[in-house]
Amino acid sequence: MARAVHDHDSAEGLVPLETARETVLSQIHPLPPIELPLTDAFGCVAATDIKAAVDLPEFASSGMDGYAVRAADVASATPGSPAELTVVGRAMIGHRPEATVGTGEAVQIATGAPIPSGADAVVPIENTELPDDDLVRLFEAVDEGRHVRPKGEDVQEGTVLVPAGKRLGAPELGLLANAGVPHPLVHPRPRVIVLSTGDELVPPTESPSFGQVRDANAYTLFGALREVGAIPVLAGIVRDDPEALKEAVFSYEIQADAFVSSGGVSVGERDVVKAAFFKHGDIAFSKVAMQPGMPQGFGFIEGKPFFGLPGNPVSVFVSFEMFVRPAMLKMMGRGHLGRPEVSAVLTHDVKGPRDKTVFARVELARGADGWRATPTGGRGSNLISTVARANGLAVLPPGVGTASSGEKVSVLLFRATED
Ligand code: AMP
Ligand code: MG
Repeated sequence: MARAVHDHDSAEGLVPLETARETVLSQIHPLPPIELPLTDAFGCVAATDIKAAVDLPEFASSGMDGYAVRAADVASATPGSPAELTVVGRAMIGHRPEATVGTGEAVQIATGAPIPSGADAVVPIENTELPDDDLVRLFEAVDEGRHVRPKGEDVQEGTVLVPAGKRLGAPELGLLANAGVPHPLVHPRPRVIVLSTGDELVPPTESPSFGQVRDANAYTLFGALREVGAIPVLAGIVRDDPEALKEAVFSYEIQADAFVSSGGVSVGERDVVKAAFFKHGDIAFSKVAMQPGMPQGFGFIEGKPFFGLPGNPVSVFVSFEMFVRPAMLKMMGRGHLGRPEVSAVLTHDVKGPRDKTVFARVELARGADGWRATPTGGRGSNLISTVARANGLAVLPPGVGTASSGEKVSVLLFRATED
């Protein structure tokens, strides 16, 4: 059974935000790892230490165009008294050398070509002369290993290429490709079914008749899920009919790793998510002490996490940040689940209820003496443009209520200030 968030209800029926988050996140686990092709594994977290089965590079090669020789054979070569060696063949890139190098012998070699066995150094072509096809004069003594890129110089067989828990970025992808690991074992990206509930909703492609509202939340959630690295699947608008919602949810169950719905979680009996899954499913509904975003549903449908977010567009955004985003990161095997946090000076007052964690949308900018946070608009949870103008959420912990202009607040940065 999912532990109900409201198990922890305080006297006022409000669950502290941190308690609600802990309740949710303690029930979320990394998705079972699978082997994915490199292009799909990009951005995913390695599920185990990925070890090298080969040395890299796999063979010693030449760093110069020239002649592969035995260093001992050219030890006394000078411009005035060159060494003369018999040319016994060529070593070309991508091929096994035509010949090995014995005493008194040399193999003509290209940059990147494998060093023929027997040779231990390369004399660059500019320090040689070819009196005829079979004879090379070398005007320079070279130390053993000179101009040879050794086998295993980059990575030695058995060493860890990518440690468990590390996210595969561009360099890791190249390294794994080079080392012959085309299907690394990673935690996959969760496939998340997004549902918008509400009789009033129409898709953004339709013109609403009076009283109807274009569905914003599906698109906010789409972007937020993409940004965090999950795979959103827009399941569309569901009417305020519990049977329709159940049908929609169960029709997607087979392909879902998680569900996120918006709307229909308030206290009213007519709230559709509650009506569909309260008692039937394993979903608990509670009032979280946060503004915006108070009513929240969380639980499991067939073992898959279901986040029932409130309907107000700003509440959706903030609830996603607080609950869904860290849960997605945890499902993807990520260790750090938070946003970057900076301390900033408020340029205007921010007001909210004292008994809740208050999130104010702010635009964070670097001033001459540190970060400044400018609130982007009113308190209403329906004012989606206030999120669009913001790059951060100023956090007033419970008990604070109001923060005045000039005061320092903590701000969660949800996108780069340059964006
Ligand atoms: P609810 O939580 O379902 O009562 O919705 C709260 C408010 O958010 C109502 O004003 C809804 O019209 C609005 N709302 C709900 N879902 C959406 C949505 N997908 N897009 C835009 N507004 C929404
Ligand atoms: Mg609704």
